[in-house]
Amino acid sequence: MDRCTATAHPNVEILAQMRTTSDALVWALAYLGAMRRLVPKPAVVLDIDGTVLKNYDNDVAKCVVGFRPFVQACSWAGIAVFIVTARPDAPYNRQWTVNQLKACGLWDYIVPKDGLYMRQESEDTGPFKFNSREEIRGRGYTILLSVGDQFLDLARKQPKGDLDNHTVWVGSLGDNGSLAIKLPSEFPRGDTPTP
Ligand SMILES: [Mg+2]
Repeated sequence: MDRCTATAHPNVEILAQMRTTSDALVWALAYLGAMRRLVPKPAVVLDIDGTVLKNYDNDVAKCVVGFRPFVQACSWAGIAVFIVTARPDAPYNRQWTVNQLKACGLWDYIVPKDGLYMRQESEDTGPFKFNSREEIRGRGYTILLSVGDQFLDLARKQPKGDLDNHTVWVGSLGDNGSLAIKLPSEFPRGDTPTP
């Protein structure tokens, strides 16, 4: 397939299928580079599992190629990088997560001190992710782009109409039609994560 294939969808204004995650990140940097001076406090929001990290058996996790230069470029261009993950927020888990982000070379480019949002056990994933994005907006940031392997990483609701969950999409899939990258779900076909 081509690196980028425009796709018509009845409910998504802008939508294209990308061949790889790297292709989507290259597109994202061009978009962010053009937009960053046009909005107050530009920001991006990234998911962790299935997005910047791929998880394998026996607690093995691998950094996804392309995200380190991506966050580096964002940070250097004055675009704040936030992480919003459904991993439960407990001291050990937070330190383990920070260590993983450090190992991937990402941690230094994330908003210091309060750029890592983790879920309280009592919260459901979808509402937690949406509320976190709202909190970031409440801090004055403009989320130009969300990136995740689940639709709920991008917006409160999945767009109506079937979209393949195992494809790299770019388009207006974020909150209020903002732009987003939807990566292939880390869950096998047929499995759905807890909302
Ligand atoms: Mg994920």
